[in-house]
Amino acid sequence: MKLDVDVLRYLSKEDFRVLTAVEMGMRNHEIVPSELIHRIASLKHGGTYKVLKNLLKHKLLHHDSSKYDGFRLTYLGYDFLAIKTMVNRGVFSSVGRQIGVGKESDIFEVAKDDGTVLAMKLHRLGRTSFRAVKSKRDYLRHRSSFNWLYLSRLAALKEFAFMKALEEHGFPVPNAVDCNRHCVIMSLVEGYPLVQVKELQNPDTVFETILGLVVRLAEHGLIHCDFNEFNIMIDENENVTMIDFPQMVSVSHRNAQMYFDRDVECIFKFFTKRFNVSFEETPEESDGSDVDSDETGRPRFSSIKKVTGSLDKELAASGFTRKDQDDIEKFIEGDVEKDLDSDGEGTGDEGHILEASPDVNIKHFDSLCLVEQHEPIVTCDDGDEEEKQHQFA
Ligand code: ADP
Ligand code: MG
Repeated sequence: MKLDVDVLRYLSKEDFRVLTAVEMGMRNHEIVPSELIHRIASLKHGGTYKVLKNLLKHKLLHHDSSKYDGFRLTYLGYDFLAIKTMVNRGVFSSVGRQIGVGKESDIFEVAKDDGTVLAMKLHRLGRTSFRAVKSKRDYLRHRSSFNWLYLSRLAALKEFAFMKALEEHGFPVPNAVDCNRHCVIMSLVEGYPLVQVKELQNPDTVFETILGLVVRLAEHGLIHCDFNEFNIMIDENENVTMIDFPQMVSVSHRNAQMYFDRDVECIFKFFTKRFNVSFEETPEESDGSDVDSDETGRPRFSSIKKVTGSLDKELAASGFTRKDQDDIEKFIEGDVEKDLDSDGEGTGDEGHILEASPDVNIKHFDSLCLVEQHEPIVTCDDGDEEEKQHQFA
């Protein structure tokens, strides 16, 4: 998706007031009646109509008159609200090229005034599978707060909370900088997703590090649930950073064992296929923990002992509530079950659009041997300088 942030500079206070009015209306309406937008925005002299037209022109809103005359925010409209808030907070001041397209997110570089580059992840839950959204909608029908805005916001909130907690416990994750609506700002990982790496100097060491992470996470009460070559970043010194946390669950989840085994399996499969790592000699206690492994070297979930002060408990006590967790789990599990139904081994990450085939366009990049890089597709600079926080009277 093109994120033309230039438009942001030309949007007026009124534009944002109406955009925010639509957002507020969407708490209770999938399509917000025009009349309600007028009332919330309460612009003088019927000014809302003109503003709505402008917002439509820039594709920040979508007009729907199938049931009644109304509007809803587009992803772009929601992006603008989040970006504007972040810019006003001084978190960053410009948006650069897109660096990733996930199944349910878009990732961009953003920069601060001092030139520091950060990563911005815009969550887009429900983008790929209309069917999944629909079944989830059926499930959540009685909850008026449900829509993709709500789910994307939950995903961002969860990702932010988990990233912060993991970082505090010494896990190699990006630094969680800020979060607003469906948008998470984090440090930029200097590296590449493992899927893009063709060769490693020390595949055995990297493999053990990664497997050690799955075990250590479980000891801290958590399972990543999407631990695979798309969500592991690796730098030129072959240091590992894990990313992408909205689907994590507690080890007390009823399907914990299955999720854990699946994460382990993804890593084994990938390292066998890509790096020819063989596992017979994998030392059982390479990470210093006393976790048992089966005869193939795969750690046994049942032998993992939780450390005290587990993260799953800690997170349950954070801003991310039990209800939030239930809602998002229901949504994500639907997808997982669907994936499992369709090919028996869904990782949840098959939908990556920009992922390159490992055997084409090999590009050497210093010590790391990579497959072709993403094209930069978005450039722009500063947001609106004079606009300050838009508020309702
Ligand atoms: P999704 O949940 O949609 O899979 P991810 O968080 O996995 O999204 O991000 C998708 C891609 O974006 C990653 O594979 C990676 O290439 C890139 N990416 C994500 N976060 C960062 C980051 N902090 N630094 C650098 N690249 C990132
Ligand atoms: Mg991912």
